[in-house]
Amino acid sequence: MKITRIRTTPVRIPVDRRVGTVADTKGFRFTSRILVVEIETDAGLTGLGEVNGSPDWSGETCDGAQALIEQHLAPRLLGEDPRQVRHCLERLRRVFGNSFARAGLEMALLDLLGRALDTPIYQLLGGLVRSREIPLRFPIMPVGPTASAEVARRVHAEGFQTIKLKVGHDPLEHDLERVRQVREAVGPAVRLTVDANGGWSVDEAIRAARELERHDVLFIEQPVHRLDLDGLAEVRRRVAQPLMADEAIFTPQDAQRCLALRAADIISVYPGKHGGILATTEIVAMCETAGVRCAIGSNLEWDIASSAMAHLAVALPNIACEQYAADIIGPFFHTRHAHTTGCVVTGGTLTVPDGPGLGVNLDRDQLEALRDDRVAPA
Ligand SMILES: [Mg+2]
Repeated sequence: MKITRIRTTPVRIPVDRRVGTVADTKGFRFTSRILVVEIETDAGLTGLGEVNGSPDWSGETCDGAQALIEQHLAPRLLGEDPRQVRHCLERLRRVFGNSFARAGLEMALLDLLGRALDTPIYQLLGGLVRSREIPLRFPIMPVGPTASAEVARRVHAEGFQTIKLKVGHDPLEHDLERVRQVREAVGPAVRLTVDANGGWSVDEAIRAARELERHDVLFIEQPVHRLDLDGLAEVRRRVAQPLMADEAIFTPQDAQRCLALRAADIISVYPGKHGGILATTEIVAMCETAGVRCAIGSNLEWDIASSAMAHLAVALPNIACEQYAADIIGPFFHTRHAHTTGCVVTGGTLTVPDGPGLGVNLDRDQLEALRDDRVAPA
């Protein structure tokens, strides 16, 4: 089997974060610019991938990824056998960074391998270690306390058992009031977490953690800046709650340093950040060796990359879905879709597809209807 063509399609998808109209988005996107990658072969099989990098997260853009793939990466894959996934990845190795763009190609290669063998990617990773139904975590935007509590009440009624509040965008007292009202709205059984996205200093994080103790917060995600692993380690030494590292960990070297510093209790992982599904398995294995649990995080993927995350979640024991619900939020935040099979979300539960490869089949007419070649801010 040989790769004959790599097709990239930019699409623009509306996002509904279910918090009503938000005047100040505080950097949260309400439209996704996503690049769909299709690797075509002479065997008639096509592999699917997705790039959803963003300037604030990975420093990438849809249009930059398209140029990188078309001009630098795709030419190195044409004529290669996509089933030799690691061989193909070696051919891409000399491009630095751009983890989301490389992940988009890698998931398409693994999708092709799965399709060629007529087996799901979770089987290629060693098979299921848990049910194909995994719990999800609902993220509430930094809206006011009353609005936060209303969203929490609503999504809890829909079936979400874990809720995350985005914090660190407003004064701490405001966030604490949000957490207090959300806890009051959903009761003691719901798991609450907070994600500061690096919005606190070390001192602020320590103070926040002490205040959050009374609201029974399961863990605090990325309290300090992504580049301050020493600061994260200091917070961890001085607070009682577990800490999750998210945007601090892109590469295996990031993970190695985080583990050596004992800077986090949990590491958030997903293919885009780490440059693919296989690279994610390597980081999860490093964490397992160090006794650190992993959880599935998110950069608001669409349906193809969401499926890649879901296959990892059910195949790796150290992705502790039972304790730490997965952030596979794209399937229910994006309002337009172009797939005929894929992840199914019911309430707060996602069912991982069991078709070959990623288990996602595209409706190309729908995809073309969502196509948007304009190079413009999202
Ligand atoms: Mg996060």
